[in-house]
Amino acid sequence: MPHITYIALGTNLGDRLENLRAALVDFAPEIQVLDESPVYETEPWGYADQPPFLNMVVRAQTELSPRGLLDRLKEIESTLGRVPSFRYGPRQIDLDILFYDELVLDSESLVVPHPRLHERAFVLVPLASIAPALLHPRLGLSVAQLLETVDRRGVSVFQSV
Ligand code: AMP
Repeated sequence: MPHITYIALGTNLGDRLENLRAALVDFAPEIQVLDESPVYETEPWGYADQPPFLNMVVRAQTELSPRGLLDRLKEIESTLGRVPSFRYGPRQIDLDILFYDELVLDSESLVVPHPRLHERAFVLVPLASIAPALLHPRLGLSVAQLLETVDRRGVSVFQSV
């Protein structure tokens, strides 16, 4: 049975658009992209002394389990040369599972929905462009409602792909 998942992509090192494209190419065949948000540029967050990020969100279909999906995303991150960095520091590509069907999961290595997605304008702005009515299964609020609670300054459209 295929599952529907939302994945956030972020990059702020090297050729950022190329990093996004390369990650999307590597998703196939196990992760089939159904819809893509535009690409947004975001002022760095957490640790400010680093280049701006490009961020986007995709809706995808997969038969991988949640854990299998996380492992595949980590493999793609390392293939694309992500060097270990400190939390919120610069990175070639960062891939996060936002939602997986209506799953609510709290394990040591994986938390779904992503535990910080509702605080992050750089996730909510692209997510709202493809799934405004999607309900957060833990918070019971739609993506559009969550977006109203965050400060979106610092997130601007970079380009539509
Ligand atoms: P980061 O370096 O900030 O991308 O954190 C990656 C780590 O967060 C991974 O090793 C995962 O085990 C853990 N993690 C927990 N929940 C998630 C999620 N929903 N998506 C991606 N990584 C997650």
